[in-house]
Amino acid sequence: MKTPAKHPRPSWDEYFLKLAMLASERSTCPRMHCGCVMVKDRFVLATGYNGSLPRAAHCDEVGCLVVNNHCVRTNHAEVNALCQASRHGISLDGATAYVTNMPCTACAKALTAAGIRRVVVFSEYHDTLAEMFFRESEVTLERLPMPGTTIHYHLDTYSSARPAAKAKPAPRSVPRPAHSKK
Ligand SMILES: [Zn+2]
Ligand SMILES: [Zn+2]
Repeated sequence: MKTPAKHPRPSWDEYFLKLAMLASERSTCPRMHCGCVMVKDRFVLATGYNGSLPRAAHCDEVGCLVVNNHCVRTNHAEVNALCQASRHGISLDGATAYVTNMPCTACAKALTAAGIRRVVVFSEYHDTLAEMFFRESEVTLERLPMPGTTIHYHLDTYSSARPAAKAKPAPRSVPRPAHSKK
């Protein structure tokens, strides 16, 4: 039995930023992979990534729909997280949004109007007035270092854990059914 490698326990901010990075892995627009996690009192309330509308084709299947140098096919991660909360009847009033990147102008306004009071990011976004709108509406904006991209989980070194007996090999990615235009 090997000894598990020691790694520093992440802070709450690092933990939620890392969850936002994980959410971004589901993004379907090749121009931008973005993730967002809504948190209040250390509880995750909703998550989102940039992707197409329900039942619609994805950029990585049919190509981007570019208008004025922006792909408009997808909803951005922040809006998708807001919509997920809306569909489940969850208030985000007073919550924190952890986002992989600085929100665009439209998302900054939507987050603010939804009651988000703190936004945490680790990368920037082009052509955004987010900082100005956040300042005007007293939404706290924090830039933190990008958390490490390694997930520290060492199944073979945990004395109480065993691999699942009949585990199938995990697919590299989940294939989506081909989009049908009906
Ligand atoms: Zn796209
Ligand atoms: Zn946006």
